[in-house]
Amino acid sequence: DISSKDLHVAILSSPGMGHLIPVLVLANRLAASHKIKVTVLLVTTGVALPESNLLKLPLDQSLVEFIELPPVDISHLVGPSTQVVTQLCIMVREALPLLHSAIASMDRRPDALFVDPFGTEALPIAAEFNMAKYVYVPSTAWFTALTVYCPVLDKEIQGQFVDQQEHLKIPGCKVVRPEDVVDPMLDRNDQQYNEYIKIGKQIPLFDGILLNTWEELEPKTLQAFKENHILSSLVNFPIYPIGPLTRPIEPAGSDPDLIQWLDKQPNESVIFVSFGSGGMLSAQQIIELAWGLELSQQRFVWVIRPPTKGRVDDAFFNVGNGSDDNPDYLPDGFLTRIRDVGKLVPMWAQQVKILSHPSIGGFMSHCGWNSTLESITSDVPIIAWPLYAEQRLNATLLTKELGVAVRPKVLPTKEVVGREEIEKMVRTIMEGKEGVVMRDNVKKLKIGAMNAHENNGSSYKSMCELVMDIIVRKGDIIGV
Ligand code: UDP
Repeated sequence: DISSKDLHVAILSSPGMGHLIPVLVLANRLAASHKIKVTVLLVTTGVALPESNLLKLPLDQSLVEFIELPPVDISHLVGPSTQVVTQLCIMVREALPLLHSAIASMDRRPDALFVDPFGTEALPIAAEFNMAKYVYVPSTAWFTALTVYCPVLDKEIQGQFVDQQEHLKIPGCKVVRPEDVVDPMLDRNDQQYNEYIKIGKQIPLFDGILLNTWEELEPKTLQAFKENHILSSLVNFPIYPIGPLTRPIEPAGSDPDLIQWLDKQPNESVIFVSFGSGGMLSAQQIIELAWGLELSQQRFVWVIRPPTKGRVDDAFFNVGNGSDDNPDYLPDGFLTRIRDVGKLVPMWAQQVKILSHPSIGGFMSHCGWNSTLESITSDVPIIAWPLYAEQRLNATLLTKELGVAVRPKVLPTKEVVGREEIEKMVRTIMEGKEGVVMRDNVKKLKIGAMNAHENNGSSYKSMCELVMDIIVRKGDIIGV
C-alpha cells in the first residue's frame, strides 16, 4: 500500500515574495503534517531575496528541499510598459526548460507537480513525467472563480470591463463590481489580459485546485464550484480549500529596537502601515499619508519606500533592495514631530512578527492575500488600501462581507487619498466604535480559521483528501 510517506511533491513558484511565501508554507505543511517529501523550485531572475531568513522557516530540513532554478533573462522580451502579469508569465515560460531538466535529473521522480497560476504552462511537463497536477492559488475562491470564468466574460461582454454599467455576474457566485476587476482585466488590449485569459483556460485542465481560503470564509463561492451550474461544469474536479496557511513568526531579525519599542506600547495601540512586497505610493500620496498619520495622533509603524514615478507595483521584482535612511520626501519636520509615536522601517519589515505583537491594533494594508491572512490570524482589523493584482476584490470582501476593514472612498490607484480621510480612517479603527466591532469580527474569523485546521476541521480534511488523491493517482500509474 502507498502511504503519504511514499510521496514526493514538486512545487513550482513564480517570482515574487507574495508567491514564494505561500509555497514555502504549503511545502512545510505537507512535510510536517503528512511526512511528504517536497521539492520547491523557484523561478529566479537574478535579484536577491529581501529576507534571507525566509528560507530558515522551520522547514523540515530532511523533507523539504529548496531549489532556485538558474536565473532567466527576459530583458529582450519586455519593455518599460510590460505589465507585471505579462512579465511573470514570460519568466515562467522561459524557465520551463530549466524545470524540465531539474525534474529529469531527480533521483526520486515527483508524483505530483503543483504550480501557482503563473505556472500553468508547465502542464505538458507534468504529463510527460506522469505526475498528478494541481494549481495552488494562494488567494481566494472568489478570485479563482473570476479567473476561470473570465474566458466566458470575454465572449459575453463588449468593451472594457471597467466601463460596464452593471456588475459582472459569475453563476452561483457573488457579483464583481467593474471597478474591482483584477489588474489584467483593466485593459483588454494589453498583453497581460491575453495571458490572464490563457491562465483561466488552463486551470481547468489540471487535476485539482488548492486555495488559501477556508469553508467558513467563503461558503457561497466554494459551493458554486461544487454545485451543478456553469462554474462547476467549467471546473470539473475537486477544489481543496486548505487555508489559511500563513508563515510562523520570523526568527529574531535585523530590527530588535523596533520590537523593544513595541514592547513598551499599550496593547492594540499601534497601527502598522505597509503595502506588501510590491507596493509603492506617489510623492503626493506619501505626503498626505504622513500628515494623516500625524493628525490621527495614533502610534504607528510605517514600512516606507521612496515615491514611485511610475506604477504602484514598481517594487514587485525588486523588493527590499536598497535602504532609505534619510527620506527627503516627507513633510518638513515630520520625523522630529513623530519621534515618540511613530517608527519608520525602510523598505522591508518583519511583518508577521510585527502584526502578531500585542501592541498592534490596526493594519493599513494593500490587501495582498498573504498580508490579509496574516492580519486575520493576528486579530488585527484593516484599513484596506488596494493597489494592484486582485487587491480591490480582497478589499471589497473585507469591507462589505466580512466587516473587518474600512477603506477610502476613492480608489488609491486613481486618486490621492487626502490627509483628513486618512486621519478619520485611522481613528475609526484604532479608537472608534466601528473599530471595536471590526476587531470583534476579526477575532471571530480567526477562531474559525483555527478550527478549520483542527483534526475535524474543513481545511484539515481538504488537505487529507488532496493527499489521498495524489496517492490514488500514483497507485493508478504504478498499477497498485
Ligand atoms: N512582507 C514582509 N515584509 C514587508 C513586506 C511584505 O514580510 O515589508 C511579506 C508579507 O508578510 C507577506 C508577503 O510579504 O507574507 C507579501 O504578500 P502579499 O500577498 O501580502 O502581497 P504582495 O507582496 O504579493 O503584493
